[in-house]
Amino acid sequence: MDQKLKGQTAIITGASSGIGSGVARALAAAGASVVVNYPTAATEAAASGVLEEIKGQGGAGIVYQCDVSKESEVVKMFADVVKQFGTVDILVNNAGLQRDASFHEMSLEQWNMVLGINLTGQFLCAREAIREFLRRGIVPARSKAAGKIICMSSVHEVIPWAGHANYAASKGGIMMMMKSIAQEYAPHKIRVNSIGPGAIKTPINHQAWDTPEAEKKLLELIPYNRVGVVEDIGAAAVWLASDDSDYVNGTTLFVDGGMTLYPGFSTNG
Ligand code: NAD
Repeated sequence: MDQKLKGQTAIITGASSGIGSGVARALAAAGASVVVNYPTAATEAAASGVLEEIKGQGGAGIVYQCDVSKESEVVKMFADVVKQFGTVDILVNNAGLQRDASFHEMSLEQWNMVLGINLTGQFLCAREAIREFLRRGIVPARSKAAGKIICMSSVHEVIPWAGHANYAASKGGIMMMMKSIAQEYAPHKIRVNSIGPGAIKTPINHQAWDTPEAEKKLLELIPYNRVGVVEDIGAAAVWLASDDSDYVNGTTLFVDGGMTLYPGFSTNG
């Protein structure tokens, strides 16, 4: 692959599985040194496995434990990465989870956990990234931008989702946070965009595709008629992180096989 991100350092949160691991592999293949973030000791082995795979392909990076919902841990992660690599050029705000419940049965704990990781976690990481981008400024040999942030949103930043109000609210919140900070820091040549995945085969949604019946039902929502894979998101992340997308700022790139095209209307409603 073209080494479009050569010499740059990327932090990918929640990268021990699923989309985060795919993005870490893709950014590393494009030449970035990657920080494979994972939240707990229980996910350390998986993170190390992702890094080994990356190194086996000639890539470089480290693993780093940090719960993105904890301010002190996020501040320390950025400080340690800057100490080790000199700076951070790219943040992929990917960590996220679901705690599903009917709205009238949803506990405050389920609400707070999803908002705390999916939205506050993205706020904390983006804030530390922007502080570092402002400190360093543009290094023309590496990129036209002073820094790039990619927020992992979802089609559910625009599609309401019954039974998942906490998750949909977190993704809707990411959309307006992303646009607001893109507007605020564009004059500093900091680019902030989101990826809105549709259905991608990962542990978060395995019950939606791991039987032929479930997959067939899921495909009714996807005009392009295939379920996505993490490589689809990795390729989009490399483009959004590279200077190929230098004039793209404050937008959500839906990578969803057309899920946001109201497929229910495809036969004239
Ligand atoms: P996943 O469960 O494989 O990945 C989520 C990752 O986040 C895991 O590695 C987990 O360890 C990590 N994580 C959880 N809490 C954390 C914390 N406090 N700090 C740091 N890391 C933490 O699922 P995925 O599908 O790969 O999800 C990745 C992102 O993509 C999420 O933000 C999710 O909302 C989004 N997304 C996924 C899909 C899909 O179809 N898979 C669709 C739309 C959006």
